[in-house]
Amino acid sequence: MFSVQSREVTDLLRTDLKHLIHPHQPSWATDRVIMVEGQGCRMTDATGREYLDATGGLWLAQIGHGRAQIAEVAAAQMRKLEYFTAFWDFSNDQAIELSERLISLAPERMAKVFFTSGGSEGDDAAIKTARYYHYLNGHPGKNWILSRHTAYHGLAYGGGSATGFADMTEGQGPHLPHVSHLTPPHSYRSHLFDGEDVTDFCVRELEQRIQQIGPENIAAMIGEPIMGVGGFIIPPADYWPRVQQVLRRHDILLIADEVVTAFGRTGSWFASPDLGMDPDIIVTAKGITSGYIPLGAVLMSEQVGQVVTSGHGYPVGYTYSGHPVACAVALKNLDILESEDLLAASRTTGDLLYQLAAPLAEELEIVGEVRHAGMGLALELVTDKETRAPLPQPGLGVADVIRDQTGVIARVSSPTNLVLSPPLIMTEDEAITAVAAVASVLRRVRPDGTIACYR
Ligand code: PMP
Repeated sequence: MFSVQSREVTDLLRTDLKHLIHPHQPSWATDRVIMVEGQGCRMTDATGREYLDATGGLWLAQIGHGRAQIAEVAAAQMRKLEYFTAFWDFSNDQAIELSERLISLAPERMAKVFFTSGGSEGDDAAIKTARYYHYLNGHPGKNWILSRHTAYHGLAYGGGSATGFADMTEGQGPHLPHVSHLTPPHSYRSHLFDGEDVTDFCVRELEQRIQQIGPENIAAMIGEPIMGVGGFIIPPADYWPRVQQVLRRHDILLIADEVVTAFGRTGSWFASPDLGMDPDIIVTAKGITSGYIPLGAVLMSEQVGQVVTSGHGYPVGYTYSGHPVACAVALKNLDILESEDLLAASRTTGDLLYQLAAPLAEELEIVGEVRHAGMGLALELVTDKETRAPLPQPGLGVADVIRDQTGVIARVSSPTNLVLSPPLIMTEDEAITAVAAVASVLRRVRPDGTIACYR
């Protein structure tokens, strides 16, 4: 039985509308889904309605919701040592153990770990790290950061400047001045490349941009191995290896933003090696704790780590860096990912999701392409398969309709992709239910963006 009474729900809703600001939600949009419980892939809201979580919250609930073992670990750690700083010479056993564990799972060159509270702090720290590395190496002019349009690197001022969506930075005054955005390797959007091979185009553009700015002025390129928020954009296999070659030639560091892709989302601990990246710095968050508690980690090579700690000390630090409870939770989360073989599950269930969804590109005029890697799946929504023109609003409200009508939580990711990124523990039956729900609504979306039989 559900304990929250409808009167309480009304009060919760009223109070939410009065006080709570939600990211990316305008005040005139007054619908709320007030979640009160989660178990596995199932969520329950304050009215008692059940949902199937096919987005893993925001791409992160790898081990699923409601794991008592995690709560127990957190409680035990809080009883023992809830917090002490990791600044200066202070440390704690959980942070030490987690740093060792992360390095054992990370790509070969990673050797050092700096903890943050999430992805945005991590991206900021990574940008500072790259610049500081060159500064201490005697190249203080190497300040520029290369990024890509439709990249997402958080919304703090540093990573936010590298984020490639104008509407997320508009009206907030100047962001970092020395950031330059390149074309994303989004093969389906072929008009971006003027008929040229995608990688040839991107590498040529990169070379040109480096010459314009001057290699002596560029610190790093930051990039998601697979662009998440941009629509789960999987680059051609030769993209990262060739980009990396160019960067190496010019002593430009590569920062892999693996906030979405690490810890099993794509079926591996880290996606960088699978995509042919050999980064100097890796930013992680999200799946590191499956969202049970905020935590991020910036990993760096021995060389970068040595240099940036060689001066008066690494000049980046957050109160919660190396928080013992967060680190204890992360360790338990990694135990579960390992003992339940959830990386393999990500590959198997991810393949199933894809097999179920891929026929929609044949069947429906509005599904241009279906892409996936592990348990990340995107359906590119178009108005016309020939021109590949993006589906207009209100078709992009399709995730809300899926949720309202079927209880399956999906997401439309910028700009026109329907994305699923479920917990890695999702069962076969749940995967079938999720794709069937998506399909049932997509079948009613017309190429002009209107949706049949809705309200
Ligand atoms: N980088 C990437 C690739 C992300 O997808 C996100 C969050 N979606 C971030 C950074 C920012 O992480 P956070 O929201 O934890 O600050």
